[in-house]
Amino acid sequence: MPIAGIYGPEDLSHTAMTRAKQPSRGGPSRALPMPPVAWTPEIERETAHLYERVKTVIPPVEWPTMAPYVKAINDLKQERNAVILAHNYQTPEIFNCVADIVGDSLQLAREATKVDADVIVQCGVHFMAETSKILSPEKTVLIPDSRAGCSLASSVTGEDVRLLREKFPGVPVVAYVNTSADVKAEVDICCTSSNAVQVVESLNTDTVIFVPDQYLAKYVASQTDVKVIAWKGACEVHERFTGDELKMYRDADPSVQIIAHPECPPDVIAEADFTGSTAHMINWVRDNRPKRVVMVTECSMADNVQAELPEVEFVRPCNLCPHMKRITLPKILDSLVNMREEVLVDPLIAAKARRSVERMVHLKS
Ligand code: SF4
Repeated sequence: MPIAGIYGPEDLSHTAMTRAKQPSRGGPSRALPMPPVAWTPEIERETAHLYERVKTVIPPVEWPTMAPYVKAINDLKQERNAVILAHNYQTPEIFNCVADIVGDSLQLAREATKVDADVIVQCGVHFMAETSKILSPEKTVLIPDSRAGCSLASSVTGEDVRLLREKFPGVPVVAYVNTSADVKAEVDICCTSSNAVQVVESLNTDTVIFVPDQYLAKYVASQTDVKVIAWKGACEVHERFTGDELKMYRDADPSVQIIAHPECPPDVIAEADFTGSTAHMINWVRDNRPKRVVMVTECSMADNVQAELPEVEFVRPCNLCPHMKRITLPKILDSLVNMREEVLVDPLIAAKARRSVERMVHLKS
């Protein structure tokens, strides 16, 4: 069914509206010496097995600028007893050569709770690092650049959620994981793009408030009889795709397969052969091995899957996430050397936010 309405900050009576807070910079100063980052025959030899993983997507001429950082980061991880979590949208040299755990935001946070590490370096955006801290409060969580934000996470605040509850009393609130800890602490349950429909239906109610992604809300509404009240947030990467653009790819090659993320607008979803989360999209390509595929999401993900499946031809409508691209090898190294920038979440907010995340995690599938 169509969504029941879309609301934004201008539709609510804010008293002291606080948009998503910028994370604090800094953190404990326990610096180690900066290792050398020069290209040498020894570095070439010791990183050759890693270059094998990315040789289809990183030209040989670029590897000497990356390999010294890769080697230094991998050495320092051991010294710090650290794990590196890399989101599917990270660049191939990070995703394939220094990450210990890769996946979507929730996979990363959940897997991180299982590892015996003192330090988590989050190669993703700030809400992901917060989610890791919420689920692993005893670990030191670092983000190599705390300015790595997200247009969805910054579109809604905890106060917005409180005002929505006043406007729609008794209606439960579902938050996509792409939200700040502050928002997660105010909602009934979180969801991912993989389980959003299941989460909405699990509440056994005829109406839900769904924040912050209006396009994911529209997708959910199209899959369920529950009425969805949406928020005016959008992913600045996925909202740029258009159905017309995808029709052009299909006209050029009718056999091409198009797979899209549900953060895309409805005309894009309508053109897609398959719609799913980043993890589902990757599994779809692994299972179906299409000859040519258009992966309608942040374009580093196509590079990462291409490195694994060189026989698949990826047509790349390349929309990059500027926030994800703030994370680079030099910044990851700096993070491990200087133990910055530490991500902290107020323990009271973290406890409330953990409840919303764990309620989703414990849903029976
Ligand atoms: S791709 Fe979109 S949803 Fe993901 S971090 Fe970037 S802006 Fe946020």
